[in-house]
Amino acid sequence: MKNYKNSGYAFMTSVVVGLCLGLYFANQQVSLPITSANAETVGKDQPTVSPIEPRELDYYAPNSERLAADEMRVIACGTGMPTTRAAQAAACFLVELGNGDKFIFDIGSGSAERLSSLQIPYDFLDKIFIGHLHSDHFGALGEIFIGGALMGRQKPLRVWGPSGPEPELGTAYAIEKMEEMYTWDLAGRVGLVDFRGYSIEVNEFDYKGENAVVYEDNGVTIRSFPAIHSLDGPVSFSLEWNGLKFVFGSDSYPNRWFVEHARDADIAIHECFVAVPDLVRKMRFTPEQALLVGTQIHTAPEAFGKLMQSVQPRMAVAYHFFKDFDTTAEVNDRIRTTYDGPLSLAEDFMVWNITKDDIRVRMAVVEEHTWAPPLASEAKVPQEGDREKFSSHSGVSVEALTYSDFISEGRWPDVDEPLRGVYNEASEALGRDFEYPTRQ
Ligand SMILES: [Zn+2]
Ligand SMILES: [Zn+2]
Repeated sequence: MKNYKNSGYAFMTSVVVGLCLGLYFANQQVSLPITSANAETVGKDQPTVSPIEPRELDYYAPNSERLAADEMRVIACGTGMPTTRAAQAAACFLVELGNGDKFIFDIGSGSAERLSSLQIPYDFLDKIFIGHLHSDHFGALGEIFIGGALMGRQKPLRVWGPSGPEPELGTAYAIEKMEEMYTWDLAGRVGLVDFRGYSIEVNEFDYKGENAVVYEDNGVTIRSFPAIHSLDGPVSFSLEWNGLKFVFGSDSYPNRWFVEHARDADIAIHECFVAVPDLVRKMRFTPEQALLVGTQIHTAPEAFGKLMQSVQPRMAVAYHFFKDFDTTAEVNDRIRTTYDGPLSLAEDFMVWNITKDDIRVRMAVVEEHTWAPPLASEAKVPQEGDREKFSSHSGVSVEALTYSDFISEGRWPDVDEPLRGVYNEASEALGRDFEYPTRQ
């Protein structure tokens, strides 16, 4: 009896499921796979090649879609916090334009790996705009500087960032000191590799500029306006191209400049901090600290909503909170008390395709085990005079840029034979004569 009941239930279930699937396929017009059961019903006009185009997929596969001439693509390469976590890198947004230009806005801790996952030739990842000098907004600069050059950037990295109230609080100072920090790293590479990518061009601009142009080339105009966050210095950016406007707020308490200059944005990205109760519960802040940091230094979700209600972008993007199953609803609900327009709660690898007619939001599907992407320009062997140039720039003597006799004499000669074999193998495989280095 029990079995009979069960099979009756199973029969009814299959009828219901069958009906539902039938309706589903009728609506979706999905082709069924050809099986012996339906082979006879398949018409001769069925395509023999799968009609799927990458753009029809509901995810974005990097490098599978060319941008249209009037299209902008924005990819979140970091949406998190200074307290690092594997699931979210800190602030970083990549903007790609239909004219081929690419720009990076902020390069927070952990974002270099995200950029690497997109497999874009590094010659195209050479323009970085930093909104302020907190580590969660520029902590991966060193990694894209060194690692990017190793992975194929054959030209200097170009960085734009604000001045500060004193020279020591400006972008130029931070980058000069970062390069100094990497003195040993750079000294150990010069003369051994193509060194053209191992320098930084710094463009420091006045943090008090109000909608001031900081970049203009190839039909792209980037402007800066002040932000209010921790100290004097932080800024927000707008990028305008081909009738489209992208706006990026690094960190800020809601400010009048953003309200004014983000207006008419097609996409407006602004920080939206962790809700105050979660700062206490999850970040272990004291209530006093949570209220101060969560509402006065940063933009609370309610304030984010109020700001976007005034700006009225075609798409508002909230980032800078840990987006978990138990925090997202709270952030969303609080934003919705003050804003009812289009909204993306950003997470890493969210992608926006923007044209005048449409904004499409998807997630990118990426490979984590990436190597260097294809080169955009050919690598060169180290150039004569690289070491001398580095020496006069860094103050390190040319003699110190190679091993001392003391260290050199510590090489273990027993590996010469197998290593000579590697040289012979390469010579044979490539039809060239690679000469095994003689020990000094
Ligand atoms: Zn900050
Ligand atoms: Zn931040």
